[in-house]
Amino acid sequence: MTPADTTEAERKMQFLFALRSKGVTDAKVLTVMEKIERAMFVRGIFSERAHDDMPLPIGCGQTISQPSVVGIMTQALDLTGREKVLEVGTGSGYQAAILSQLARRVYTVDRYKRLVAEARQMFDQLGLHNITAITADGSHGLPEQAPFDRILVTAAAEDPPGPLLAQLKVGGIMIVPVGQSDTVQSLIRVKRLDSGYDYEELRPVRFVPLVEGLGQD
Ligand code: SAH
Repeated sequence: MTPADTTEAERKMQFLFALRSKGVTDAKVLTVMEKIERAMFVRGIFSERAHDDMPLPIGCGQTISQPSVVGIMTQALDLTGREKVLEVGTGSGYQAAILSQLARRVYTVDRYKRLVAEARQMFDQLGLHNITAITADGSHGLPEQAPFDRILVTAAAEDPPGPLLAQLKVGGIMIVPVGQSDTVQSLIRVKRLDSGYDYEELRPVRFVPLVEGLGQD
């Protein structure tokens, strides 16, 4: 092992330690987060900070989420490996890449064509063939592929969007940050029951807002 390798290994250990200490306790989620290299999804100078537990800029004025929040959202989905999942907010593609290792099929949508194209390229490069990335306004969900076993929204809505609630299967789970963009938001877990929806507040979070319509880039 060269000194450079040691540093890389140490960084990885610190990364996993930070995840655990912030509440990412699911062994399968930790294993996948160890395997999928976050630096692959962060461009330019920011890739050096990929092991830090903080959001980082990714272009189009958007950010790749904080790894511990990615881990917490992923474990809250309670995946068994058999699910069809919709992610709203592809961003860098990092979250979708993690989901692809824990679910059967992942659909991910973003309002920026450029982000979708870049994420798609990375999925190809990493051989992640069970992800379909689409440019679309995710506030309407993805009716042509609905219903979904799980839905993960990685941008904050004022309320859980109605079309997404409707596209969740009975027994399904949706994780969505809810609140105004410039104040503290809450991460909510919605379970669809036979008779309606059950809402549980998980923790405070801070996400970029869910914006209607397609982006310019
Ligand atoms: N999950 C991403 C981070 C998401 S940042 C990752 O792993 O890197 C939030 C993303 O939501 C941004 O890329 C933004 O463009 C997207 N977004 C916001 N409103 C949207 C909408 N209505 N439909 C689809 N994507 C949206």
